Amino acid sequence: MNAEVQNIIDRLADGDDLSINEWIKIIGEDYDTTYLFDRADGIRRKYYGTDVYIRGLIEISNYCKNNCLYCGIRRDNESVERYRLSDEEILECASSGYELGFRTFVLQGGEDGAFSTKRVESIVSSIKEKYSDCAVTLSLGEREYEDYKMWFDAGADRYLLRHETANREHYYILHPKEMSYENRKRCLYDLKKIGFQVGCGFMVGSPFQEVECLAEDMMFIREFKPDMIGIGPFISHAATPFSDCENGTLDLTLKMLALLRLTCQKALIPATTALGTIHPAGREMGLKVGANVVMPNLSPVGVREKYSLYDNKICTNEEAAECIRCLERRVEGAGYKIVVSKGDSKV
Ligand code: SAH
Repeated sequence: MNAEVQNIIDRLADGDDLSINEWIKIIGEDYDTTYLFDRADGIRRKYYGTDVYIRGLIEISNYCKNNCLYCGIRRDNESVERYRLSDEEILECASSGYELGFRTFVLQGGEDGAFSTKRVESIVSSIKEKYSDCAVTLSLGEREYEDYKMWFDAGADRYLLRHETANREHYYILHPKEMSYENRKRCLYDLKKIGFQVGCGFMVGSPFQEVECLAEDMMFIREFKPDMIGIGPFISHAATPFSDCENGTLDLTLKMLALLRLTCQKALIPATTALGTIHPAGREMGLKVGANVVMPNLSPVGVREKYSLYDNKICTNEEAAECIRCLERRVEGAGYKIVVSKGDSKV
C-alpha cells in the first residue's frame, strides 16, 4: 500500500470528505486491504463494540409491477411462481421471530398492488400493538409521500430503499425507461423528511458498473447521510436479461463495506445474504470489515425459494430457529455477538 492510499484511508477515518478522483483511486486501485479493513473494524468497535443486530426478514410478496433488468422477480419473468402472504401469516412470522429474540421485523416485497396503503398500515399497527418493544422496517419500493406518511404514523420506524446506482446513465441501463432515477431519489428524501430511519444502497459489480459509478454512490451516500446502508454483490438470475453477466466479487464487496464504515461511521450496515451466497463465509468476512447487522429469513420455508431475486440464494430450506442458531455460531466465530435489541441507528 502506498503512502497516498494510506493517507486517503486515514483522512476517511478522521471524517474528511473525498473528491470524486480520490474515491476513484481508493476504490479502483489494487492494494493490500489489511490496513483499510483494520481501520474499518476499529471504527465499528468504537461505536458498536462487538454487537451485531439481527433483523427478521419477512418476504411478504414476490408479485412486482416493475421490470428491473437484474431482478429475478421482475414482472416479465413468467417462470417464477408468484405468492403473497396473508396478514395472518405475516403476524405468525413476527410471533415466531419474537420468541427467537428478534426485535426488528423487516417486511420486504415486490411492488404488489394487493398490499394497499391501508392494508400495510393495518399490518404495521397490528405488529406495533402486539410488540411495542420492536421496530418495524418496511422495504416495499417506491410510493407517494402520503403513503409513506400513513405508514410512519401507523408506527413504522425504518424504510429500506436502495438507490441502486447514483449514476443516472447507469440507472437506465439497470432499469426500464418507465422507471425514474429522479423518483427513486424523491422517495428517499421524502422518507427522510417524514422521520423514518432510512436505508439506501447499491449492488456491487452490477452490469456495466464502472469505478466512477461506485465513486458517485459513495458521494451520494455521504451527502444523504443514511441511517442504514445495504450493499451486496450483484448475482445473476437465469431468467433475466442479465443472465450472462458476471457476478460481483467478494473482494470488491468487502472493500466497499469497509469504505462505507469509514465514511458513514455510525451507520447500520448489514452483511447481506447475497454476500453469504457468493462465498460460504461471506457474511463473517463482512462483519470483520465493518458490517454490524445480519438479516436472517423469517419467511415461511415454503415461499423462500420463490422470493428469488438471484440464483442460488442461501438459507431457503432451514426453519428460522435453525437459521438463527447457525448465524449465532458464525457471528461468534468471527469474534462478535448477536444482541437482543431494537438496534436503532446512532447516526
Ligand atoms: N421492491 C423493493 C425490494 C427490492 S429487493 C424495492 O424496490 O426496494 C431488495 C434488493 O435486492 C434490491 O434493492 C436490489 O438491490 C437487490 N437485488 C435485486 N436483484 C438482485 C440480484 N440479481 N443480485 C443481487 N441483488 C439483487
